[in-house]
Amino acid sequence: MKVAVASFEFEGNSLSLRVARREDFERLGIFSGAAMLEMAAGKQLALTGGLDVLTTESVSIEPIVLARCVSGGHVEDSFFEDMKARITDGVAAAMPLDGVYLALHGAMICGTEKDPEGVIISAVRRTLNDPDIPIAVSLDLHAHVTPRMARDAQIIVGYETYPHVDAYQTGAKAAGFLLRALRGDIRPVTRIRKYNAIVPVLGGATLGDEPMAQVAAIARTAEAEGRALSASYFPVQPWLDMADVGITGLAVTDGDPDAADAVAQDVLDAIWDRRREFELPAMTPQEAVTAAVAAEGRTLIVDAPDSMGAGAQGDSPALLAALLDVAPDTAAAVYIVDPAAAQKAQEIGEGQTAEFLIGASQDDRWFKPLSVRATVHRLGDGKFTYKGGPASGATTSTGLTAVLKVGGVRIVAGSFPFYEHMDEHYAANGIDIADCKIVSFKNLMNYRKLLGPGVQYIALHGPGGAPLRLQDVDWTHRLRPFWPADDMATPAPAPDCSD
Ligand SMILES: [Zn+2]
Repeated sequence: MKVAVASFEFEGNSLSLRVARREDFERLGIFSGAAMLEMAAGKQLALTGGLDVLTTESVSIEPIVLARCVSGGHVEDSFFEDMKARITDGVAAAMPLDGVYLALHGAMICGTEKDPEGVIISAVRRTLNDPDIPIAVSLDLHAHVTPRMARDAQIIVGYETYPHVDAYQTGAKAAGFLLRALRGDIRPVTRIRKYNAIVPVLGGATLGDEPMAQVAAIARTAEAEGRALSASYFPVQPWLDMADVGITGLAVTDGDPDAADAVAQDVLDAIWDRRREFELPAMTPQEAVTAAVAAEGRTLIVDAPDSMGAGAQGDSPALLAALLDVAPDTAAAVYIVDPAAAQKAQEIGEGQTAEFLIGASQDDRWFKPLSVRATVHRLGDGKFTYKGGPASGATTSTGLTAVLKVGGVRIVAGSFPFYEHMDEHYAANGIDIADCKIVSFKNLMNYRKLLGPGVQYIALHGPGGAPLRLQDVDWTHRLRPFWPADDMATPAPAPDCSD
């Protein structure tokens, strides 16, 4: 049996101006053929899990392409078209095929195309020219799943966890169903149900007894009771300004679309019923710094509205301004995307003091740059290696990077946004966060891995590319009524905008 495999992952954000171009994908690497298999080997990627399951004596794998990039606004049209062609050309060249596995994120947007993953899956289906050749897809839990995707892929499986610690297992699960379908043991069918509702990402952890953990338990029960082969929940990347974006339930069954519909509906209702519980307390930067200084131990301040993992630019100086205003002598560390500040620091050299304009370097809609007299504490190339998470062991870079010091505050000015995992980026720049009273993070979930005795967190609210209050966003394309802008007793189904 022959199976083609491809992975193209990107999470979009309509509020972010950041355009992901080829060079942005190249920062994490674009791989094909043997190099793709080599890159994936030993990682915790969904692709790795899928490949490990498919690597059996009876399957020959055709590796097509692997491309990933940090979240951002949208993927440049030309790069998307190029990748789509690369995937369909790869499928065409590998035919005859018995199956296809695609490891996708599911919340990609492009300049023009609003359902890129749906378009890719449909293009692969057309290339195969056979409705019965199974296509299996793994998706992030924040995927924007469309009816087109469920129509053209027999198997869709989403991550079960947030923080995302099961990308590998999700790929393995999707590929496992694909293998069973290839052997003729099952005839999988996928159905989705979706409401016109979005919920804050910050409150969407599947930890403990949090609302999404309860939803997860309902999905696992449906699987355990044999009502579905797989049940997935997609609280969705909410900052996608499109009419058809909404919380989604999904199920895969063995040839029973009605049963899949029923389980998808149960999962969807489980999210809807808990919609009010996703909102967590948050503070302004001034309030947060004041509270952190007064608190025992170390406080991680989660700059949620500027979360790079959610597609924001990572260039907000709001927390830095509050630190310099309220607690300039407190030992603190912040990361901020500011290539010009990093460049200027490189030019004047370590130990030199100068006036820097910091922040709002990528997007001046929310903030103005902050004028700061700082000393260049350390210079670097921004390279670091992930010590865990899906890309564990992979090396990435924040580009030209400089640590600037003002009082007790160390400002890590990097050239690019990146996926924060834990504190690898601070350690790489000589900062041990154990020495800090306050540390800033620009992600919505991974910071939780650093919590523990004597370490608490405070989330920020305010303007930015990933604002917490979804009802305050100036949406252009969302249809009314939708939760949380409208407090409806009965949910409205999300429209189908597939072609
Ligand atoms: Zn996600």
